[in-house]
Amino acid sequence: MQMKTKPHSVLVINCGSSSLKFSLINPADGINIIDGIAERLMTSDAKIIIKFHHHLKNNTPFEKNLAPPFDHKTAIEQLVNCLTEHQLVDQISAVGHRVVHGGEKYSQPTLITPQVAKTIDELAKLAPLHNPANLIGITAAQKAFRGLPQVAVFDTAFHQTMPEKAYIYALPYALYQEHSIRKYGFHGTSHYFVSKQCAKQMNKPIEQCHFISAHLGNGCSVTAIKNGQSIDSSMGFTPLEGVMMGTRSGSIDPGIIFYLVEQLGYSLAEVNNILNKESGLLGVSQLSNDCRSLEKMALNNDSEPKKIRLAKLALNVFCYQIAKSIASLSAGLNQLDALIFTGGIGENSAFVRRKILKQLSLLNFNVDDQANDTARFGASGNICQQDSRPCWVIPTNEEWVIAQQSSQLLKHGLKQDT
Ligand code: AMP
Repeated sequence: MQMKTKPHSVLVINCGSSSLKFSLINPADGINIIDGIAERLMTSDAKIIIKFHHHLKNNTPFEKNLAPPFDHKTAIEQLVNCLTEHQLVDQISAVGHRVVHGGEKYSQPTLITPQVAKTIDELAKLAPLHNPANLIGITAAQKAFRGLPQVAVFDTAFHQTMPEKAYIYALPYALYQEHSIRKYGFHGTSHYFVSKQCAKQMNKPIEQCHFISAHLGNGCSVTAIKNGQSIDSSMGFTPLEGVMMGTRSGSIDPGIIFYLVEQLGYSLAEVNNILNKESGLLGVSQLSNDCRSLEKMALNNDSEPKKIRLAKLALNVFCYQIAKSIASLSAGLNQLDALIFTGGIGENSAFVRRKILKQLSLLNFNVDDQANDTARFGASGNICQQDSRPCWVIPTNEEWVIAQQSSQLLKHGLKQDT
């Protein structure tokens, strides 16, 4: 017999230009009822994979090639068919959308009205790679789930507590006043979640906690959190600023851009592509943007010496930049209760964590190798020795935050309590 899932589940949608990730979540406990991805959208290889979790008898993943026009709408239609077949549609109380840029306008989850959708569209000038894709997901979900409330949860929202001294660039002030050019910070939902979880683990009210959290995945950002609020972050006007990432350069001397264009003849589009897609771990190693592959290469004595050298170099630059970012963000705090690692690399790479912590001995971090090796693959824990400043590994769960905040918004206006 098929077990009935609890009502009030939230369908969480994270829509990119060529992919659409989704999960149906119980906001009360974060349990996933289904999740999956539609990928290679807008190509004839587009397909959807839906995983059914333990509530359902049939937990074999559903996989299907999408029909023309292979777009987001087709993916959502297929998802609706599946949800209908498994009698899950009636359990959805809202659709929560991850929206990358909320500008200065949105510091809270927001019910998507036509006016809000218009503003998200206007904010696309600040996030041309992300907001238009987010809007495509919103439009498709509005059509498929007519009558269900749709909520936007913004990646920038958590950072709206940053003080002026952190978000103003040393540029002519008019560029901020007239064109909104300032630091916004991203990965806010993740930094928010892991800081709350860390406070719980440390048995301290979040309002009294001072953390630095490092979200290290394909995208990487480091955030300083004072009394539970973001006060500074490494990513800036766009998610390109800050530390080196999988394929993004992070911060570089802006003079390099002029040199590439004026002296070496690159077009601006080419420079954009280099900085966003050909740099970072991939650029330095010339091998891969994937941390796991680079670790394997760096530690495999049978690999070609040049490959070993470049894999090691990429990881060294990566860890050093992150350590520097952590140290520099500590300037905004007068107390540091713990460092937090999260994201695919932060949650799983004992190698990267150890290297960063060794670089930060001045801040009193002293890694416990055994605890560090244990806190992987979904396990959380303090990976430092007893006499050290704590460093916690906390698996992130942005989808749960989106589900919870969407549900809270509908029930009570807004009260955040993840
Ligand atoms: P994310 O964007 O959060 O999914 O993180 C992706 C990154 O996490 C990639 O660079 C992966 O290589 C890295 N990653 C995932 N698992 C591991 C692992 N076991 N060891 C090292 N890196 C990992």
